[in-house]
Amino acid sequence: LYNALRAAFPTDLDSPAIETDAGAQGQALVYSWRDLDRASAMMANLLASLELPPGSRIAVQVEKSVEALALYLATLRAGHVYLPLNTAYQSGEMAYFIGNAEPAVVVCTPGNFGWVSKLAFQAGVSHVYTLGDDRSGSLLERAVHHSDRHQPVPRAPDDLAAILYTSGTTGRSKGAMLTHGNLLSNARVLKEYWGWRTTGGPEGRGDVLIHTLPIFHVHGLFVAVHGALLNGSKMLWYSRFDPKKIIARLPEATVFMGVPTLYVRMLAEPSLTRDAARNMRLFVSGSAPLLIETFNEWRERTGHTILERYGMSETVMLTSNPYAPDARYQNQSERRGGTVGFPLPGVELRVSGDDGVALPTGDIGGIQVRGPGVFQGYWRMPEKTAEEFTRDSQGQSWFKTGDVGKVDERGYVTIVGRAKDLIISGGYNVYPAEVESYLNDLPGVMESAVVGVPHPDFGEVGVAVVTAKPGATLSAEDLIATLKTKLAGYKIPKRCFVATELPRNAMGKVQKNVLREQHKGLFA
Ligand code: ATP
Ligand code: MG
Repeated sequence: LYNALRAAFPTDLDSPAIETDAGAQGQALVYSWRDLDRASAMMANLLASLELPPGSRIAVQVEKSVEALALYLATLRAGHVYLPLNTAYQSGEMAYFIGNAEPAVVVCTPGNFGWVSKLAFQAGVSHVYTLGDDRSGSLLERAVHHSDRHQPVPRAPDDLAAILYTSGTTGRSKGAMLTHGNLLSNARVLKEYWGWRTTGGPEGRGDVLIHTLPIFHVHGLFVAVHGALLNGSKMLWYSRFDPKKIIARLPEATVFMGVPTLYVRMLAEPSLTRDAARNMRLFVSGSAPLLIETFNEWRERTGHTILERYGMSETVMLTSNPYAPDARYQNQSERRGGTVGFPLPGVELRVSGDDGVALPTGDIGGIQVRGPGVFQGYWRMPEKTAEEFTRDSQGQSWFKTGDVGKVDERGYVTIVGRAKDLIISGGYNVYPAEVESYLNDLPGVMESAVVGVPHPDFGEVGVAVVTAKPGATLSAEDLIATLKTKLAGYKIPKRCFVATELPRNAMGKVQKNVLREQHKGLFA
């Protein structure tokens, strides 16, 4: 994987690869392609000096920085397995991850060294380094003593490159084992499908990516970073998302990738205009459903149609709305809001019933996939892995995504929710996404979440939590009454709450398990 990325670096190694934001203390920094190559070589040599067995896990919980990215590249070069961890995790969570992953090396922020090193040493980890987002810490202090030349350790497509813990939206995070082959094949497909460019753009050097996502998940680390590196494209690098700053930088960029909340927050800024987005080529959204209102409003304000795609830690990217006419689908090129587009080239996707039989076009069921991006399994959870793969009579095996959706006659895939969020009320299936889309359409409603809670008569019933648009006042009773005129009785939430916000995790995903927990006693 590293060799492929390295081969895409521009010939002028001194040209800028990453420009950072000025940040609180200081100066914006410019890193050249040579800087990336040298920094990752020094860190790879440091890792090599530890003489770890190949495939050792390098667990990293640090603030976003270019040095953290270099550490990822160094891990690939050294032939080890990168294991990024959400910076929000506290000691209870870190004890689980370190215990579960058994890393050989742990890298943490200087401020967390006290408690992280204690946990790590208790778990038998012998190397703990620190890395700050201001180039401080023992990792760089050690790395500078090593050579800035390094020959990547050969790795085969089936060798592990990274373990990514899932977002934990539906329960405890699981470590998805991703190989060099999984990551490289997906990056190559996206480069082609999204039309990455090496010429034109605001500087004549092709695409420029604004990178403002965290780098401990698939979206920020693989979709965004690999996209830019594999195309030799410059990144404008932000550790934190600040809508005003990002909009101000748009004229210098061509590609932006975000989770839906980032789009919502930019839309709240008057500075978001057609002119601000004049040089942009592509806006990509994923990780969570993009509301149709956001999709429409974005088009009105900027003249750009957001391209929504769908993927997960276990499979990398699976589907995408078309960037250009797709010859596999009658040259359709429409990016359709509310859908996640077509299966990417190489991905096989089917919708299956509970009995494991593929359903006809248009029917709603469990989304199952096969393809080069599908992971090797959950780290140290063989039973869980076995449960999530089918084994049908032809000996074929499909990965059960846990998402529920449908494919229409034009080939577009729509996600209607997660299997775990499905509500079975009095024997009827209620798809929360459907009820939410009606609620979101009601005047004054900003967004909503519908979850199932236990009920003595119906088994389960829906409970809605809604938030109001700025300045609007909502009445829960009125919302329910209006909904009753639009939807069948069994789909109507039995209770509705107006809240100031919905609980979200770091990727902007609504944590329905939190809402279920809060409201589980309502009818008990
Ligand atoms: P966990 O598996 O631990 O419960 P998670 O599924 O949220 O957490 P990730 O692997 O980070 O962890 O996220 C993948 C999930 O995100 C998908 O299974 C899907 O439910 C959701 N998702 C990703 N992109 C989209 C999208 N465009 N529209 C709707 N949902 C999406
Ligand atoms: Mg998941």
